[in-house]
Amino acid sequence: MVLGIVCFLGYRILASVISVGDFVALLNASQDLGNSIQQIFMFVPQISENGLYVNNIMEFMHYESMIEGKENGMNVSAGSHSIQLDQVNFQYTKDGNSVLKDISVSIRPGDKVAVVGYNGSGKTTLIKNILRLYDPVSGKILLDGRDYKEYNVYDLRKRIGVIFQDFQCFAASIANNILLRDVETAEDETLVWKALEMSGLAEKVRTFKHTIHTVLTKEFSSESVVLSGGELQKLALARLFAQDCDIMILDEPSSALDPLAEYELNRQIMKMAEGRTLIMISHRLATTRDADKIIYMEKGIIEETGTHEELMAKDGKYARLYRIQAEQYAGL
Ligand code: ADP
Repeated sequence: MVLGIVCFLGYRILASVISVGDFVALLNASQDLGNSIQQIFMFVPQISENGLYVNNIMEFMHYESMIEGKENGMNVSAGSHSIQLDQVNFQYTKDGNSVLKDISVSIRPGDKVAVVGYNGSGKTTLIKNILRLYDPVSGKILLDGRDYKEYNVYDLRKRIGVIFQDFQCFAASIANNILLRDVETAEDETLVWKALEMSGLAEKVRTFKHTIHTVLTKEFSSESVVLSGGELQKLALARLFAQDCDIMILDEPSSALDPLAEYELNRQIMKMAEGRTLIMISHRLATTRDADKIIYMEKGIIEETGTHEELMAKDGKYARLYRIQAEQYAGL
């Protein structure tokens, strides 16, 4: 193509239609044009590739929650609440496996409840139903004696603070990560420090040059810090502590900690949960001995429920699992 253009422009010079200066300028322009056309062809596959990501975002933005009547209903007053599950059955898809089977359980206001069992037994699914992220296929969940569906779902969720195993840490300051908003007042700062004290992370944060304003992750700043797995779990707990909630739900809050740190953290959690209802999932039974009620699940069924002493006296599946794990926790 370049050769063609050179010949054509050369002919135009000989015919005295253009000058040598015009020749150089036109040759450069034609080369730029060629490059631009080439780039357009290179962009086409990139555009279609990015289009796939845009589709995902659009799908997410237009996602309609399946929860019925979510915006209507009563507000949930602040304070202690009872939760009751009455013959709850649940499966994720119509033709999928039954994940929760005939679950009936009562949680009194202020109860400390531990949900234990092997992986895949339905513990997380149970708390997702309690959060009303899903509705049971059959059966009912009641808050203070009234069907969950009578409440405004956003208001209901506001009263429940939750940490899932895959909680997110953002590339923002420690304070932002705890409040999930900016620090605006002196009270906000006090709240952040209180939450850090409660979760056991305050001492570490005091060693950072910018303390609670230290940015996490190395994405944006060379002065930022990277926290360990255990410290991140404490950060997630601080986030929960800073939240004004009546019901605390924790899904394996201490799985990244060593046994002694885990024991300490659980004592902190129990202290923090005073006056609030606490539902804690754990597959380490030593962390759940002090619970008012232990729910032992297997394959979507509540196999046993009671206090640690009651379940040990029963000498059933919980007692067997506890004894297997006990050696690991000897001395605590
Ligand atoms: P646990 O918390 O006790 O480990 P889960 O509640 O996470 O158990 O999982 C219970 C069962 O439900 C598992 O068989 C799991 O594969 C299935 N499950 C969990 N989440 C989903 C989902 N979003 N879609 C389909 N099946 C799921």
